[in-house]
Amino acid sequence: MELLVATHNVHKKEEIQQILGDGFVVKSLTDYNIHEEIVEDGDSFNANALIKAKYCFEKTGIPSLGDDSGLVVESLDGRPGIFSARYAGDHDFAKNIEKVLIEMEGFENRKAYFITVLCYYDENGAKYFDGRVHGNLLNENKGFKGFGYDPIFVPEGYDKTFAEMDPQDKNKISHRKKALDLFLDFLKEQ
Ligand code: IMP
Repeated sequence: MELLVATHNVHKKEEIQQILGDGFVVKSLTDYNIHEEIVEDGDSFNANALIKAKYCFEKTGIPSLGDDSGLVVESLDGRPGIFSARYAGDHDFAKNIEKVLIEMEGFENRKAYFITVLCYYDENGAKYFDGRVHGNLLNENKGFKGFGYDPIFVPEGYDKTFAEMDPQDKNKISHRKKALDLFLDFLKEQ
């Protein structure tokens, strides 16, 4: 079965190919010569994942997968949420972290979670798969691995940040992995 993933990112495509295995041929937008940026202007993770998956399915007729991820901070009423990538600047991870830490000054509640919503779209419409990893935020950066908010996020049950963990260990418990596992369970039932 062929699956189109709404990304130009080769690593994302390969990660999904690896998890889904040989029964699937995972393609990216680039493989279909689609070079436009999809405008993600939804007001929720689900809405953005749907925009991407639906766009791909309507363009190609191939079953498509869209995703949207971010960090949700309890004491910031859910911010940065869907604005995670551009919270303080366009994909400027250091500035985004700084903005979150400044906003959290004085709050004792450091609880946060990462979330990934996947939307699978085919001729039957949309199906959603939601993966979360809960944890706490430090008030300074620790570690240099990973990306985004990893240096301030300590997953529950661990004493180091995602940026201090080896990628294989992070990937076993991550929000993305949990959402992909649910998607895989759904595909197996088909
Ligand atoms: P995307 O939807 O996968 O592009 O993720 C949007 C933004 O959420 C990223 O630019 C990061 O700022 C943040 N984010 C998502 N997943 C992670 C993660 O695993 N670690 C750290 N930050 C993440």
